[in-house]
Amino acid sequence: MSVWDALVGQPAVVDTLTAAAQAATQVATGGPMVAAQAGMTQSWLFVGPAGSGRSVAARAFAAALECEETPPGCGECARCHTVLTGTAADLRLVRPEGLSLGVRDVRGLVRDASAAPSAGRWRILLVEDADRLTEQAANALLKALEEPSDRTVFLLCAPSVDDVLPTVRSRCRVVNLRLPAPDDVVAVLTADGVDPDLARLVAVVAQGHVGRARRLATDEQARRRRAEVLAIPTRLSGVGGCLAAAASLVAAATADADAANADRDEAETDALKSAYGVGATSTGSLSGRGRAPKAGAKGRALTVRGSAGALKELEKAQKSRGRRTVLDSLDRALVDLAGWYRDVLMLQLGAPVEPVHPDQTANAQRLAAASTPERTLRRIEAVVACRESLLATPGLAPLVAVEALTLALRAG
Ligand SMILES: [Zn+2]
Repeated sequence: MSVWDALVGQPAVVDTLTAAAQAATQVATGGPMVAAQAGMTQSWLFVGPAGSGRSVAARAFAAALECEETPPGCGECARCHTVLTGTAADLRLVRPEGLSLGVRDVRGLVRDASAAPSAGRWRILLVEDADRLTEQAANALLKALEEPSDRTVFLLCAPSVDDVLPTVRSRCRVVNLRLPAPDDVVAVLTADGVDPDLARLVAVVAQGHVGRARRLATDEQARRRRAEVLAIPTRLSGVGGCLAAAASLVAAATADADAANADRDEAETDALKSAYGVGATSTGSLSGRGRAPKAGAKGRALTVRGSAGALKELEKAQKSRGRRTVLDSLDRALVDLAGWYRDVLMLQLGAPVEPVHPDQTANAQRLAAASTPERTLRRIEAVVACRESLLATPGLAPLVAVEALTLALRAG
């Protein structure tokens, strides 16, 4: 086992990162200059489409940087374990919970990242969605990238290099992740015990998105919601039908988002509560690492007040993440829908390509026969336009955008 096991279908990336992590071990004996000469870089940008595993790769690399085994990244030692679970003292994990990350947050994080490592070799700042940094925040980060402390490593993740400021990009070594091939996804899922036929279907319909494929393979409700989304084109008979179909699409996306968030919310709340466990003081941090316990009645009284405040903060962050996840999963549903219309178009053109949704070809054949390629193209464009307007307009109510979409799909 190693930290790279979680990275599906990315052999070239694993080679690059392993070599860099190996070079990085030189910092222990020769200092940062020697590590740099050996091929270690302190600023990295992981790019790849959603589901390609860019944050998984960044996390695995962080673990390998701190691991003391040879080769680094064993996945079994305490160093690897604390990084992978996000509890390592020298790792700061930044996951913007809202739609963007502001300058004040970034300044604090950068200051923190410039301190000397307390336990590991490096102090690591991992930003999961560097594309969601505000421009001011990105500039604050840029200053740190320009003059990094000796032992600080910056790991940024974004969908593409165009999603970060050119000045930030030019400071980083770029790691390109690709969407894994369906065969790679099938191999991972069957190794986890998923039935091979189901693994094959979900690997294809998830279009390389490993997390999505896993959820579809293991959660029957998620499969039902996907079917609901793909049934929408059959429900657009009148204006009333369009509005109802829009409502079910948004409801399905919301339910998907809730399911994805529920596990994470619960784990965080538990971690916070145990950090404020009996005997801990009210200065326990939100990250789940409690401070040294102090006994006594005063300590416990503070604990109750402190934990209530921290829990409230956490609930607020979770709520904000909830809104964002709804948009993400709505986007996913629209990608599914666009893929289905693409299947219709390919049937109309007689193109010999594999369908995106092989289990939904009966409906696709019906619409292919009843409409024209021009109309199908217009429908695909309508789905794309809806995705774009939801991404570009933060205040736009999802239901309003999707209602406009279903009406446009009906008109075709
Ligand atoms: Zn290790």
